[in-house]
Amino acid sequence: MNFSSPICAVVLVLIVAKWAVELWLRRLNQQHVLAHAGAVPQAFRDSIDPATYSKSVQYTLAKSRLSEFEDSYSTVILVAALFSGILPWAFSAFTNQFGQSAWASAAFLFVTGVALSLPNLPVEWYAQFRLEERFGFNTTTQKTWWLDHLKQLLLGLTLGYPLLALVLKLAEWTGRWWWLWAWACLLAFELLMLVLAPVLIMPLFNKFTPLPPGTLRERLLALARRAAFRAKDIQVMDGSKRSRHSNAFFTGFGRFRKIVLFDTLVQQLAEAELEAVLAHEIGHYKKRHIPKMLVWSAAALMLGFFLLAKLAQANWFYGAFGFTPGNFAAALLLFGLLSGVVTFWFSPLGHYWSRRYEYQADAYAAQTMGEPRSLIGALRKLTEKNLANLTPHPLFSGFYYSHPALLEREQALARLSHEIEKS
Ligand SMILES: [Zn+2]
Repeated sequence: MNFSSPICAVVLVLIVAKWAVELWLRRLNQQHVLAHAGAVPQAFRDSIDPATYSKSVQYTLAKSRLSEFEDSYSTVILVAALFSGILPWAFSAFTNQFGQSAWASAAFLFVTGVALSLPNLPVEWYAQFRLEERFGFNTTTQKTWWLDHLKQLLLGLTLGYPLLALVLKLAEWTGRWWWLWAWACLLAFELLMLVLAPVLIMPLFNKFTPLPPGTLRERLLALARRAAFRAKDIQVMDGSKRSRHSNAFFTGFGRFRKIVLFDTLVQQLAEAELEAVLAHEIGHYKKRHIPKMLVWSAAALMLGFFLLAKLAQANWFYGAFGFTPGNFAAALLLFGLLSGVVTFWFSPLGHYWSRRYEYQADAYAAQTMGEPRSLIGALRKLTEKNLANLTPHPLFSGFYYSHPALLEREQALARLSHEIEKS
């Protein structure tokens, strides 16, 4: 590395600052959880027993400690990759062997990406087969776990690799506005994936089946009719193949929409509670949350490509990390490695918007159901069964949570029910 380069110092400061803030927030949260660990907080005394509460505290702390390790470990790997000189060395070795065509450069980027993700594999394995196992969540077999990773690798090879080659080709072909072309192509790819992923990719990992006939199906179909939502898009996924955690989600847009309930959720919740969860997911559709998020991500992607185009022209950017200036693949690699150090500081903003959407979907569900009790019941059971943290530190949840904490959601729903009564 070039120690005299001020850019190296700036990058190092950004990396260390991110790591320090991550550790600080995790410690803050751990202390907050421990400070409330003595007894079930007042607000939850009716809904959770002391044994489950203490188990949720232990689970939260165990996960937090593992995340501390992961934060530190990935920081060390990033610093080593950026400053040891291994990347420029590997790049020139690779291009000497395979040339500098777009396909060869894309192969180098792909292989480097895979190589840099390998050190995290043992941590992932430990999280699934030790930590999740210890708290009774793991149902993944070794075979499923390895097959999942193999499938992800093959998906990367068939989708990610050609996409990388396309971006490199566009940079060659389309002149100074290449980054707008690349942005448009990536955006088109993102839209295509939103449509194709539920049909082609998700079934590679899970089985999706329509709701079986019965009272639950009748009830959910009736709700879908009331909300004018095409009901054949409600499906059950075999989440229990990997974990006892339960969930539900909404994906796609327009005609390509789909609501998925985990089989674990269907087992855990009462029918009225499942109805409320479905109403919440339909709320995401009705409030157009996915198209709105797409607009934001398109804007962020455009900004990203614009910055990449600027950096790719700057000799100091290459020089700081030991690369020969002007090789676009090197700029793309450095940009990919460094983008997380910058986007980290903006992630609370994204999470803030995501929480707003959750409140809106909750409100839609309560209005559609005519009462908030079923949704509150569902949220409480979800929190309990997943051993979710009931007492996150406000700064921690503000920074990291894409969904509001249980207490915040209950309070918002209580305010709403007062309003419904008044009107
Ligand atoms: Zn939601």
